[in-house]
Amino acid sequence: MLIDNHGRKINYLRLAVTDRCNLRCNYCMPAEGINFAKKDDLLTTEELKRVSKLLVGMGIDKIRLTGGEPFVRKDLMELLRFMAGLNGLHEISLTTNATLIGPHIDELKRLGIKNINVSLDAINKATFERITRRKNYDVVYENLLRLIDEGFNVRVNFIVLEGQNEQDIIPILERMKAYHVGIRFLEEMPFNGGSKSFQKIKWDHKAIFNHITSHYPDYIKLESPATSTSINYGINGHKSTFGIIPSFSRTFCGSCNRLRVTAKGDVITCLYGKPKANVRELIRSNGDQEQVAVAIKTAIGSRAKTGFEAQQEHESKVFENSMTSIGG
Ligand code: SAM
Ligand code: SF4
Repeated sequence: MLIDNHGRKINYLRLAVTDRCNLRCNYCMPAEGINFAKKDDLLTTEELKRVSKLLVGMGIDKIRLTGGEPFVRKDLMELLRFMAGLNGLHEISLTTNATLIGPHIDELKRLGIKNINVSLDAINKATFERITRRKNYDVVYENLLRLIDEGFNVRVNFIVLEGQNEQDIIPILERMKAYHVGIRFLEEMPFNGGSKSFQKIKWDHKAIFNHITSHYPDYIKLESPATSTSINYGINGHKSTFGIIPSFSRTFCGSCNRLRVTAKGDVITCLYGKPKANVRELIRSNGDQEQVAVAIKTAIGSRAKTGFEAQQEHESKVFENSMTSIGG
């Protein structure tokens, strides 16, 4: 079992399989993209398999594959097939922009993958195209409905962006009310590849909550797991639920059970901190599993208590990083 230096059990790995993406969401990266990793610096299929197997052996029982866009990796299904056979791994989930998932839905179901988070920051097509800088709305929306229809546990991630999509908050709840889906509204974080910098946000969790509940005063608070980052609610007459994630305000650090490994192999113990080790370098230098395990345990043993503490590790107040490299 992995326990950090503050007594928190770490059982959840967020594994970014690539930093590449076919969209260019303006809150995630600049229009021209970021300085993407050299292909040689990305973990290979075999390395991804080794890292996940090792971590499952150490106590990770839930892995979320993210990116970049996980489905731009041609070997993604091979990796998922491997993971589905790992003893001790109870949950495999995906975070995707849902542009490329369509042909894989049947196999995902067969592999027993249940939880899929779809990023959709607008219900209006023009707004979606402005934010993502691409014209994929129809396929994303169609795949979203298919995933719900096929019985996946689907959650929509909607980042609330000042001046861009606040007018879609109520319409997305209205459009989704007939479906079993969770709509989660997230605070924008300053990880956008340097496209803009900010120290505070208009749409924090309280503003989002007030906006939604002023339209739906008959909401009810739902029970959520202790490690959940979202506070979740139901609305009378809606099959869908909604959640709010204070990703910028960071009120959930006390129960954080997450470890992140980026597509380049960086080990990140807090989203707001610096990488603490690199599994790719360790594997490629001598391939010794034991050394990789020690590096991971050392990183987990010196974790910052909160995201605010972790943030002190950076000299500059401006984050140069993009979510496409960290994985969200
Ligand atoms: N491409 C996939 C997708 O968009 O779902 C997976 C990778 S994406 C980096 C993972 C999550 O990070 C998405 O839900 C995305 O909305 C979120 N994200 C990206 N940039 C963000 C930012 N600046 N603030 C908050 N969330 C962000
Ligand atoms: Fe791509 Fe996801 Fe970033 Fe959008 S949020 S640019 S879909 S990695």
